[in-house]
Amino acid sequence: MDSPARNATNGCEGAPEPIGSAPFDPVVNVAGIDEDAIADGPGLRFVLFVQGCARNCPGCHNPQTHAFGAGTDMHVSELFQRIVSNPLLTGVTFSGGDPMYQAAPLAELAERLRAHGGYDITVFTGDTFEGLLRRGTPDQLRLLKAADILIDGPFVQAQRDRLLRFRGSSNQRILDVRRSLSEMRPVWTIDPEWIEGDPVADPSRSRRTRP
Ligand code: SF4
Repeated sequence: MDSPARNATNGCEGAPEPIGSAPFDPVVNVAGIDEDAIADGPGLRFVLFVQGCARNCPGCHNPQTHAFGAGTDMHVSELFQRIVSNPLLTGVTFSGGDPMYQAAPLAELAERLRAHGGYDITVFTGDTFEGLLRRGTPDQLRLLKAADILIDGPFVQAQRDRLLRFRGSSNQRILDVRRSLSEMRPVWTIDPEWIEGDPVADPSRSRRTRP
């Protein structure tokens, strides 16, 4: 008589999977998704609006994203598949809410996207680059390291400027994360796709000097 078929992974028919063998697939609490946006960074982007922010900037445009846990839970694997299934995307933006409150699952997603390749990964936060370096959690630093661009700083109503590109107030900066980390100071991107024509960020057109 033939011997019974064996489980290909552990050789024991019917044996349970070893504990911890399931792929790590954390959950992001999501406020909304724009699968083909052109307003939150250059190119065609997948924008993930995450739920939750405790900063309460006066004049915030997305107050519905403040309550923690009030969004829809989505697995990182599902978000990853939705992004990579669109060959036209050039970038992914994490907005909110404040992505730094869900840094662990977002770092996981950003790292998977980096490993896949082909995306400019942008993270908005109401914190600052300097603040994250000083007091960021390991997960927040992991998310920062997985990003290409950090748009940092809270929205400040008194510094609101409709002419700015991709952000609401002139205190917010569009930082090149690789260079900022290598120099350990905030370094603006010089990528024209991000800054061309911006009254603060574009040195050739500035009506104000950069802070
Ligand atoms: S950090 Fe962003 S989402 Fe949070 S209150 Fe400020 S503007 Fe709104």
